[in-house]
Amino acid sequence: MTDILLQTEGLTKHYQVGGSLFAKSQQKVHALDNVNLTLYKREIVGVVGESGCGKSTLAKVLLRLVEPTEGTIRFEGRDITALNRKQMRDIRRDMQFVFQDPFSSLNPRKKVMDLIAEPLDIFRIGTRKDREKRVYELLDIVGLTKNHADRYPHQFSGGQRQRIGIARALALSPKLVICDEPVSALDVSVQAQILNLLQDLQEQFGLSYLFIAHGLDAVRHISNRIAVMYLGKLVEIGDSEEVFTRPRHPYTKALISAIPEIAPDHTEEPIKLTGEIPSPLNPPSGCRFHTRCPFAVERCKTEMPELRTAKDGHAVACHLAETI
Ligand code: ADP
Ligand code: MG
Repeated sequence: MTDILLQTEGLTKHYQVGGSLFAKSQQKVHALDNVNLTLYKREIVGVVGESGCGKSTLAKVLLRLVEPTEGTIRFEGRDITALNRKQMRDIRRDMQFVFQDPFSSLNPRKKVMDLIAEPLDIFRIGTRKDREKRVYELLDIVGLTKNHADRYPHQFSGGQRQRIGIARALALSPKLVICDEPVSALDVSVQAQILNLLQDLQEQFGLSYLFIAHGLDAVRHISNRIAVMYLGKLVEIGDSEEVFTRPRHPYTKALISAIPEIAPDHTEEPIKLTGEIPSPLNPPSGCRFHTRCPFAVERCKTEMPELRTAKDGHAVACHLAETI
C-alpha cells in the first residue's frame, strides 16, 4: 500500500489563443509547464504564487475540467488522464472542489436542500428520505442548521454560501478536495472561520486538500507542505515551516519578504520583487524567474533549472539554490 493519493508527471497546459486553429497568429499561453507534484493521503498541500501563475489551471486540469496538453495524472495509482467522461465522473466522487466564488457556483434558483443533494441525486445514492437526512447531516457538519435547507443562495452571507459549497463538496465523502482560493472573496472577519472549518473537516474525515491561495501566509498554518509556483512552473516545494523559515528559491524568499508581519523577524536580507510578471505567452528562456531575480547569472538565462529534491524532501528549481 502506498500513501500517495495523487501524482502528476510532466503536467502541462498550454491554452491556444488568438486566430483560427491553423493561423500563424495563434499563440500559446504557457499556463502550466511540466509540473511533477505528489500529494499524500490525509495531506494538505498549499499552492501559492502570484495571480496568473497557473494555480487555477492546475486545479482544473487535475479535475479534468480542462484537458492537459501533456503529462499524466495518477489518482490512487490509476492514470486518470485517459479516462472517458463516464469513468471520470466516477473518479469525481473521490475528487471534489471548492472554488473561490460560492455564489457563481451555486444555482440561484435552487434551494439549499437541492443544491447539496445534487451530487447524491446524480449518483442515485439512497432514497429521497436518505438524501434528505444526509443533507441535514451535512448542514450540521458545516455549521448550518436544518432551517437553512429551505432557503435560496441569495439569502445567505458569503461565508454561509461557502459553507454550502463545502457541504456540497463533502456530500459524496471524497478523498481529495481541491480548494481554489476558498476564502479570498470573503470578508477578512469570516476568512478564519472558514479556514478553521476546512481544517476541522480535514481531520474529522481524513481528507486530503490541494489548497490554493494567493499568499504564503494564508496557507502557512493549514498546510503540511507548501508548493510555490511561478509562471506555470513549480519552483519550490517542501514542509510548510521549512519553506517559511528556510526558503531556498529567491522567488519564495521575495514572497516571504513581502509579508509585513513576518519580514522583521526574518534574519535574511529582504528581497524585493521588482518588475511585472512576464507574459506567459512568451515566457523568459532558461529560468523563468531570471528577469526579476537579483541573483541571476548567465546560466539562468539559458538553462532551465530542474526541480531537485534534497534529502529532507525539500525541492527547489534554482541553479543557485545552494549558494545563495
Ligand atoms: P492563477 O489561478 O494562478 O491566477 P490561472 O491558472 O487562472 O492562474 O491562469 C494562468 C494563465 O493562463 C494566465 O495567464 C491566464 O490568463 C491564462 N488562462 C487561464 N485560462 C485561460 C483560458 N481558458 N484561455 C486562455 N488563457 C487562459
Ligand atoms: Mg486562480
